[in-house]
Amino acid sequence: MYEKIAPHLEELTRALGDLEKTGIRAEFDKLIAFRVPPDVAKESILRKFGGKRKVLKVKDLSANLKNFELTGRILDLGEKSIRPQAGAPEKPSKLYTGVLADETGSVLFSSWKELPGSIGDVVNIKNAYIRIWQNRIRLSIGEQSPVSKISDSSLPPLSELSASYKKKLIDIGAVDFSVDTVACVLQLSRREAIVKGRQSRMISGVLADETGRLPFTAWIELPGIDIGSIIRIEGAQVRMFRGMPSVNILSSTKVSSVGPEEAGKLAFTFESAAKDPVPIKIEELGSRDSMFDVSVAGNLVSVRPGSGIISRCPECSRVIQKGNCRVHGKVEGIWDMRIKAILDDGTGSMSVMFPRELAETIYGKTLEEAEQLMFSDVSKDAVYEDLRRFLTGRYLAVRGNSSKSEFGVSFVAENAWVPEDDLAVRVVELLRRLGPDEENVPDKNSQVSGGGIELA
Ligand SMILES: [Zn+2]
Repeated sequence: MYEKIAPHLEELTRALGDLEKTGIRAEFDKLIAFRVPPDVAKESILRKFGGKRKVLKVKDLSANLKNFELTGRILDLGEKSIRPQAGAPEKPSKLYTGVLADETGSVLFSSWKELPGSIGDVVNIKNAYIRIWQNRIRLSIGEQSPVSKISDSSLPPLSELSASYKKKLIDIGAVDFSVDTVACVLQLSRREAIVKGRQSRMISGVLADETGRLPFTAWIELPGIDIGSIIRIEGAQVRMFRGMPSVNILSSTKVSSVGPEEAGKLAFTFESAAKDPVPIKIEELGSRDSMFDVSVAGNLVSVRPGSGIISRCPECSRVIQKGNCRVHGKVEGIWDMRIKAILDDGTGSMSVMFPRELAETIYGKTLEEAEQLMFSDVSKDAVYEDLRRFLTGRYLAVRGNSSKSEFGVSFVAENAWVPEDDLAVRVVELLRRLGPDEENVPDKNSQVSGGGIELA
């Protein structure tokens, strides 16, 4: 068999580069496994991967991209020796790492071969691919990625590119490694933490501007800066934590207060930034890798299996089955309740996780009450069935963090309520349909309290 496919693989390698690294080989093998003749498989692969080789800018980079072309200026370049794997006879190989930038941003890269240029030079890379390394996007240059130096390029000069990027919070993502931003401090707390065995003081909190919010951490003192301060941050590192970008303020980062005159020209004030987030469309969540502290309103179209009462391991909190933890074996489980549901707002749908406290609120039953239902009913799915009956079709607003994966958008709710304005609009709408007398609209205050109506 191999003799039959070898020439086709060679041709594909010549056209598309390293088939293993780019995943093209796996694709080819899949076609062969489906009994597609090798020459037909080759043509199909060439059409799929060769016909539309993508030319991308740094801002377009995201996980799972492969076989694209990118031109950038080398901002930083270093090399390190990688010891061969045990038993491998080869001498240590070298890995070249650095930062590549174009006018849209900058990205970390790693290359298994020496680049035909050094810091300041512009290189064009074909058949590049993206690897995720330490939760960060990394532009990868393989043995089969042709790299050429470009002598006359229209890219901005080194000095301009190496100034880190001024970004709004909403635009900060996994591709960024260093950013400048102006934001106000919404939350701030100082605490001691052990870092690499040493007692360190750290500050953590939340930043906000007119586009959104992001968590931040500072490993330096920030004298005079507190909740409500509007600050300029220059050269902060972007770290990914649980799929969420976080602004990391290090000793090399410059932080300064923004004076009142300049603050007056900004598109936000502390008051506007501190307001509860306005609900956004699920469609928009789907267009971003993650979003921090946003709200969404929609209908619960289904309650997923796995919702209801679950049992957790007392050691590690993993969900356990029949009193067995996958790590700790036989344990005395602790009851917990959660709801996983699909929320749809007409522009898209997402999976929402409601932890116990919120599950109790939106279900209107406490864990203890749900336990009674579970024990009093012969069906082990009694709570799940009850949840489905009670929640399916409900209109709800949620607030929390969203992240996107190959399975779609998932959202962890930190708050949930029935939107007040929507309720008022719906009541008026309902009364309008029932009869013309709008005097009958019930006094809103008799039903609505605070940010929304309490769920019964
Ligand atoms: Zn456990």
